[in-house]
Amino acid sequence: MKRAILPGSTGPDGRPATLGVMGGGQLGRMFVQAAQAMGYFTAVLDADPTSPAGLIAHYHIDTGYLDEQGLAQLMQRSAAITTEFENVPAPALITLGAHRPVSPGADAVAVCQHRAAEKAQFRRAGIACAPHAVIETADALAAVDAALLPGILKTSSLGYDGKGQLRVETLAALADAWAALGRVPCVLEKRLPLAAEVSVIVARDAGGTLVHFPVQRNLHRDGILAVTEVPARGIDEATQQRALDAARAVAESMDYVGVLCVEFFVLDDGSLVANEMAPRPHNSGHYTIDACDLSQFDLQVRTTAGLPLVAPRLHSPAVMLNLLGDLWFGADGGERTPPWPQLLALPGVHLHLYGKASPRRGRKMGHLTVTAPEFGQARVVALEAAALLGLPPF
Ligand code: ATP
Ligand code: MG
Repeated sequence: MKRAILPGSTGPDGRPATLGVMGGGQLGRMFVQAAQAMGYFTAVLDADPTSPAGLIAHYHIDTGYLDEQGLAQLMQRSAAITTEFENVPAPALITLGAHRPVSPGADAVAVCQHRAAEKAQFRRAGIACAPHAVIETADALAAVDAALLPGILKTSSLGYDGKGQLRVETLAALADAWAALGRVPCVLEKRLPLAAEVSVIVARDAGGTLVHFPVQRNLHRDGILAVTEVPARGIDEATQQRALDAARAVAESMDYVGVLCVEFFVLDDGSLVANEMAPRPHNSGHYTIDACDLSQFDLQVRTTAGLPLVAPRLHSPAVMLNLLGDLWFGADGGERTPPWPQLLALPGVHLHLYGKASPRRGRKMGHLTVTAPEFGQARVVALEAAALLGLPPF
């Protein structure tokens, strides 16, 4: 097992030991906050000078992910390194990994970056995923089985929040859609009848110890996560157990070290199908900050620093609402400030804003977690909060 970077220890320069993170988005910001709570210094590599994590880290290296000097600086600063952005190029992680403990490793991140590789990994781990075809050539396009329609054509890499996806009904529409996506490598997935969506977040250390959060139920709107509910409302115990077992199996199949989120579809017939996975904390786990005794970011700090993992405990049922940039615009299209005082007057509301200066439609600006002693109470308050924000009920 790798040597731990102990809390309270100092680096070679006499300053507190530093944990580094590739990527400066909100996930990196919440990692930085968790690391700082334990006394670590933090270093963020992100080209954006105003990145949410870079703004609050001790060291911000504002270069691209493959910049040699930037990577050298990150290594020089950091005793161990993690990632918050799944599209960090594998070569960057390999470079870092040659000199510092890096988790998750380049191999696992590469699998999660590519839909076809990800589906192959699910299969190897014995987990069902949506019927699909890999489309990388015109021949592969011509050979597509019409039974996959109606389907969703997804770019194999770099998609997020429903970007890089087109719904297709016919083979002719499929050809047009592939052209519209630039004929890049894609996966065509059969569109499945979803009864619900759930996700599971696990953390695994180099010794193979694995702990997990409870199953989360997720509601997406326009391909973007909108609401997470925990415990997972309406999802029976057996289905939850299958999701937990599948998340464990895929983490073990990759000898994964770090925090991993696996997203699933629950189909109308009750079966469970893996959708995709993220080699990092996940938006559906943000509630863990306020509702669990250890958050997904605390566990990322522990796996990064090589510290012991213990099972996190949900101490309060929770409902999380994502706050997208849309909420900063009124019905007339003019800018407005969401009604924070009214929201904060509700019991059990925890507001998180990521420090992003310019709201844009679909941009994740923050989230709000409602906790309560009983799930029903949290849901009532979350519905009130949604109404105040002008969001539809769920
Ligand atoms: P993320 O931001 O989670 O990475 P993404 O852009 O990678 O999103 P997916 O998770 O593939 O997108 O899809 C987004 C949403 O679209 C899913 O959560 C689900 O609601 C819907 N969806 C995706 N694939 C299917 C499918 N095969 N059948 C039915 N619905 C689907
Ligand atoms: Mg997804």
